[in-house]
Amino acid sequence: MKPVVALVGRPNVGKSTLFNRIIGERRAIVEDIPGTTRDRLYAQAEWAGVPFILVDTGGLEIEVGRRSDRDSVAPLSVASADYVPAIRQQVRIAIEEADVVIFLVDAQEGLTPADQDVADLLRATHKPIILAVNKADNPSQEIAAVEFWALGLGEPHPISALHGRGIGDLLDAAVGRFPRQVEDAEGDAIRIAIVGRPNVGKSSLLNALLGQERAIVSEIPGTTRDAIDTELIWEGQRIILVDTAGIRRRGRIERGLEYYSVLRALRAIERADVVLLLVDAAEGVTAQDTHVAGHIVAEYKSVVVVVNKWDLVKKDAHTMDQYMHSVREALNFMDYAPVLFISAKTRQRVDQVIPTALRVYSERRQRVSTAELNRILQEAITAHPPPTKGKPLRFYYATQVGIEPPTFVFFVNDRELIHFSYERYLENVIRTHRLFEGTPIRLQFHDHSRLKRRQQRSISSVSERDADG
Ligand code: GDP
Ligand code: GDP
Repeated sequence: MKPVVALVGRPNVGKSTLFNRIIGERRAIVEDIPGTTRDRLYAQAEWAGVPFILVDTGGLEIEVGRRSDRDSVAPLSVASADYVPAIRQQVRIAIEEADVVIFLVDAQEGLTPADQDVADLLRATHKPIILAVNKADNPSQEIAAVEFWALGLGEPHPISALHGRGIGDLLDAAVGRFPRQVEDAEGDAIRIAIVGRPNVGKSSLLNALLGQERAIVSEIPGTTRDAIDTELIWEGQRIILVDTAGIRRRGRIERGLEYYSVLRALRAIERADVVLLLVDAAEGVTAQDTHVAGHIVAEYKSVVVVVNKWDLVKKDAHTMDQYMHSVREALNFMDYAPVLFISAKTRQRVDQVIPTALRVYSERRQRVSTAELNRILQEAITAHPPPTKGKPLRFYYATQVGIEPPTFVFFVNDRELIHFSYERYLENVIRTHRLFEGTPIRLQFHDHSRLKRRQQRSISSVSERDADG
């Protein structure tokens, strides 16, 4: 069965222009009247070799006769109350029928109450929602798209359906959320990757993990073209160990080919929620380990540092502390990561690996209420106000807009005034309240002024909802 992708959004945001762009039928003339660009509801489409069915739900309203006055309404009166039932109907159909919903908003118009209304409906579902900010025809309009974080639907993807900007990234995101046959069965499985240099002990650790009494193991063939994953049930929790075939193969044929092992690791990192970064205790953290660690951070994946071959280290009472210190120094950009000292060979502390990964995963899904976050922000500013050179930096409020990774948006008077060191400070203060162990957190800053003029009410209603949840 082909996955179904539905386009929803209020009238005139460009659903039908995007529809035509995706199915590859570019119109010579797109008239500036809503609805005129539309003549089909469903089409076969394909991206990166993956076929899917595209649905233009804007067309559905016409077909079901919910609104006959579509063309008589001036394009910009989109917040008109008459439109709301029709849009709701559209969204309901999309939620029922679609595997992935692309929600379109308009970068040039900004956030409107009608968008908020649709977002409320979408937020209540479990279908994957991709937020597309259309009419971002140039870089400055692309930047303005961050305003739509306030919808609480995750990352806004700036696109221009008319000029074909950002469409590839948008479709990548959509295809990435398709229910794959295998992943259907995976359900709420946690994906863990084991990465590290050749010979560090990945396949030994894999075998030790799979050999544990508490683990029930089965292979999942053909998850992706050349990666075979292994499923593990651990105290009722399903875990997918990513690319286990690659780990086994690598030991034999890739020794010495470090560049290839890095590529392979990067792909495993992309597919994982939590990464076990293996380090060889006899060698310490090497440049290549640091390089791979940098990718884990850049991909915002959670991480456990696993120092393997601990049996080879001659120990006295201080060894572990000293070793910990040197690991922290070499990986100072992921100081939130737990560090385990294990031996895959003797199985020392191998039984801690999965429980630590599960703990880190639950931190990755942690939510801080808007009320608590703003208390933390207030405390941080009071204890250590932002340095002022000229124009003072003001914070209005902050909200967590997402998990996996935890993502926080701070509304400020001018985000140009945020210094990197102050950003680090805010992150540290958040972590003193909520550890987010093993998990990178994302801080984003957004100018409040534009919102203040137009969207004060919507923003505060989002924050109230968060505070309730
Ligand atoms: P729909 O009714 O919501 O599906 O919107 P349409 O696809 O009919 O588009 C409404 C209007 O927005 C038309 O005039 C389009 O030419 C225009 N439009 C669509 N996409 C873009 C875009 O990316 N940039 C700009 N500037 N205009 C766009
Ligand atoms: P991979 O290339 O990362 O998969 O590494 P392997 O699992 O193939 O291990 C490479 C070598 O290190 C093998 O000879 C293993 O027996 C050895 N090895 C793995 N783990 C340990 C350990 O904890 N202690 C010791 N002493 N040797 C280990």
